[in-house]
Amino acid sequence: MSSIVPRFFVRYAGHVTFELGAPTGEVLLVDPFFGDAFPWEGHVERRLTPAAVKPAEITSLAAILVTHGHADHYEPESVLSLADRLEPRVLAPRDVVDDLAGRGVPSELLCPLSPGARFAVGPWSVLSVPSAAAEDDDPCVRYAFFLECNDRIIFHSGDSHGYSTGWDAYRGRVDLALVWYPYMREIAERLEPREAVFMHYDGFEPGGFLCNRDPRDLLLEAEGYPAGPRYRVLERGVITAFV
Ligand SMILES: [Zn+2]
Repeated sequence: MSSIVPRFFVRYAGHVTFELGAPTGEVLLVDPFFGDAFPWEGHVERRLTPAAVKPAEITSLAAILVTHGHADHYEPESVLSLADRLEPRVLAPRDVVDDLAGRGVPSELLCPLSPGARFAVGPWSVLSVPSAAAEDDDPCVRYAFFLECNDRIIFHSGDSHGYSTGWDAYRGRVDLALVWYPYMREIAERLEPREAVFMHYDGFEPGGFLCNRDPRDLLLEAEGYPAGPRYRVLERGVITAFV
């Protein structure tokens, strides 16, 4: 009898927030947002779909990764409490690192991102690349991530509005792509991942950005998307193993 050994684990808290675990236990938390509201363009967006995981339920954390400083991707209070309790490294754009330093996070935990920078976190290799349309920004404060573990590659698009040619080296090599739903079609077609997971569809009120979608409808729409990837929606709060 043969047994299939998972290469990595994923737990989706909701919106854009994922925990990614190595079989040896090192966990990355990408884009921490657990709250019930966030400030956006002069108003407050109230969350209608609660996060399925709360920071207090996270018991082990090697690193927190932040794609950019929007408040639905970077929740300072959550990062502060997790940094205080679990002492993860925090890999984040310069503006976020500066904000956390000002809030008292020890400098030895803080790692500013730069385009093309690679970080080793246990068995993980974290590559930060500019998100689509941020390629020429200086300094760059909007990123996407390629995360490698056990010969598998995970992509988190951040708030990329489409595909970036800066990602070309990873075409056809990504095992799991986590993508903001309106840009799934374009990114799947260009990046050609093996599996593609929708994100950034939670319900918000008033919903002044692209959100508020039923993930079942997204899967139906994906039937007309490029063939190749397996399009998926992850059950919230549940640890899913990937081989
Ligand atoms: Zn966002």
